[in-house]
Amino acid sequence: MPERFPASLQKKIEDRLRYYGDLGIRLFYTDRGPGGENMAATEPIAATPLAAPVAEENVLPKPTPKPAPVKSAPIAVPPPMVVAPAGPSLFESTEKVKDDTLLKIREDLGECTRCKLHKGRNKIVFGDGNPKAELVFVGEGPGADEDAQGLPFVGRAGKLLTQMIEAMGLQRKDVYICNVVKCRPPENRAPEPDEVAACSPFLIRQIDSIHPKVIVCLGATAAKTILNTTRGISQFRGEWLDWRGHKLMATYHPAYLLRNPPAKADVWKDLQKVMAELGLQLPKKSKS
Ligand code: URA
Repeated sequence: MPERFPASLQKKIEDRLRYYGDLGIRLFYTDRGPGGENMAATEPIAATPLAAPVAEENVLPKPTPKPAPVKSAPIAVPPPMVVAPAGPSLFESTEKVKDDTLLKIREDLGECTRCKLHKGRNKIVFGDGNPKAELVFVGEGPGADEDAQGLPFVGRAGKLLTQMIEAMGLQRKDVYICNVVKCRPPENRAPEPDEVAACSPFLIRQIDSIHPKVIVCLGATAAKTILNTTRGISQFRGEWLDWRGHKLMATYHPAYLLRNPPAKADVWKDLQKVMAELGLQLPKKSKS
């Protein structure tokens, strides 16, 4: 048996694992194979349908829990979920622009050079979908495929997102899909604070102009950025939160699901809550 690590090293390892956990990467070691990260590339997307509604209780949309009427001695009502902000929100100061439209926002963005990400981009990935969508998905930032096509979520993770949307009985054109930053970060790294600060006014205007019923943050970066929290996504994933008057739910990023397919069950539960909120029924299975 190997000896126990020295306490300082043990703590460093624990801190690092907590950090990965916060990023939603909890099976970091068990996922590793001879191909390392690229292992995910061998996972057949189409063969792993998101809809894992095997248990009936997962299939039936459940009503969103409503706060119980106030009684003299409330005992069983859980307190509303509060994600403590790490500081003043980037977004709170963003004023609503009267009669804003996606077209106007795109024009204002122009051939943006507001942050360093513009230097490496091919195409700005503004966003795509229904300008009056009831449901908006927010990802982190474009990857290589998105940068090449100028459209969000068109690579492998995007194909899985499309499957998720279709499992909800919707099509991509019914929802709106965008990202925290509109230019590809080099090596697909997470966007840096100055990049987020430069881009976020446009994201806010997009969401304000669409005025969706529900926002779904895909992954830790989108959730932590929008909610301005340092808390790990696993602490508030699947909970209804309020953001600038919109209902918001954070769930795992499709790229994480490609690496960790069992987490699809959690995401499907989250999406069923979204469906219930939007009054969507599960699509009827076609008879074979
Ligand atoms: N990942 C994201 O977060 N956004 C995209 O558009 C594509 C992949």
